[in-house]
This record gives sequence, C-alpha cells and structure tokens, in this order.
Amino acid sequence: MARYTEANCKLCRREGMKLFLKGARCHSDKCAFDRRSYAPGMHGQNMRRKPSEYALQLREKQKTKRIYGVLENQFRTYYQHAARRKGVTGEVLLQMLECRLDNILYRLGFAPSRKASRQLVRHRHVMVNNQLVDIPSYQVSPGDNIQIREKSRQIPLIHDALKRVGDGRQAAWLSVDKVNLSGSLLEYPQRDDIPTPVEEQLIVELYSK
Ligand code: SF4
Repeated sequence: MARYTEANCKLCRREGMKLFLKGARCHSDKCAFDRRSYAPGMHGQNMRRKPSEYALQLREKQKTKRIYGVLENQFRTYYQHAARRKGVTGEVLLQMLECRLDNILYRLGFAPSRKASRQLVRHRHVMVNNQLVDIPSYQVSPGDNIQIREKSRQIPLIHDALKRVGDGRQAAWLSVDKVNLSGSLLEYPQRDDIPTPVEEQLIVELYSK
C-alpha cells in the first residue's frame, strides 16, 4: 500500500504551519516547527519571493492532502467525486475527507493523530455498525456507529489520546461514549464545523484549470 515516507515534521515546515501529524509530540516542546519554522532544505531560510497564484493553489492542495494523509491520486478522486455532487465543491471535498473513518476516529479522540487512527483501523481494532472495517478511507454516513472492538479496548494509545481530547478536537457533529469507546456521526459537518485551516476554494481553482 502506498504511503508517505517523508519525515512528518518536514511537511509542517514546508507548509509553514503545524499540521499536527505526530500526536502528543506536536503539543510538546519537541515540535520541530516550533524550533525551526522555516522551510526545510538549504535555501529554506531565504525563501522570500512572493508566491504566484499557482504556487498558492498548489500549496493549499498539498497542505490539505498532508493534513488528512491522502496521496495524490486518491485526493484527485475525492475532488472528482466532490465536483459531481450537489453543493459547493470545496466544501463537499472537505466533508468527504472529514467523513473518512480514520479522521472520524481522530475527531472522536480515540487516536492522537490521523496516522495513529489509520493504524488502529488497519490492525482491525475498529467496527462500524458491528462489522469489522479495516479500510481507513471508509466513508462514514450519518447514523453509523463506530466502536473500538471489545478485545482492543485496553490499548493504552486510545486511553492516552482520550485524556488529551481537551485540546478541542472533538466535534459537535459527532457523539462520543468514552466509557464504551464508541461514537457516531450525527450529521454531515458544515464548513463552519470543520476546523481544518485551508482555503478549499484555491484547490478547486487549481483542479479547474
Ligand atoms: Fe508538525 Fe510539530 Fe507535529 Fe512535527 S511535532 S508533525 S512539526 S506539529
């Protein structure tokens, strides 16, 4: 299975903002972006050129892909589906990314990062509507019940992540039961409910060329 192999912290430095890809480390003083907030590479500290319109659009797309941990082809497929659906394309795109099973687990607070939640799913610790699902990109629909498998409920990573939920990650469009480690999607999130700091319109402009 294709996946990112680049160092996560480099991605934050490249995008010029914290993307929170590493869980607890991102909130600690070990965060690489807090220590070196310039782009990686030999010329990282000297990049002062005004970015072109295309560069801005490209960066926004790259940033979004990296936040959700989606690779290029899959991201383009999301865009194509979003463009065919009713509604504002950029918002529908974000909605589809938010409804990925790995993202929902992260928003519920069951994993410290989307990367960790992908691992929980792939390692078969997660059930949707009482069925095992091991596909991180699985699209969750309103009313679906997501639950950590009974035999996996003692995994320390899940409990450590739940303790950190106070960082504001839990969303109003989700309900969570921390005792039974389950949750559900109440309704599709609207743009104002999605705290991802991206300008999705720039992505639409990029792909519409
Ligand atoms: Fe980004 Fe800092 Fe987390 Fe590294 S530790 S992934 S630089 S937020």
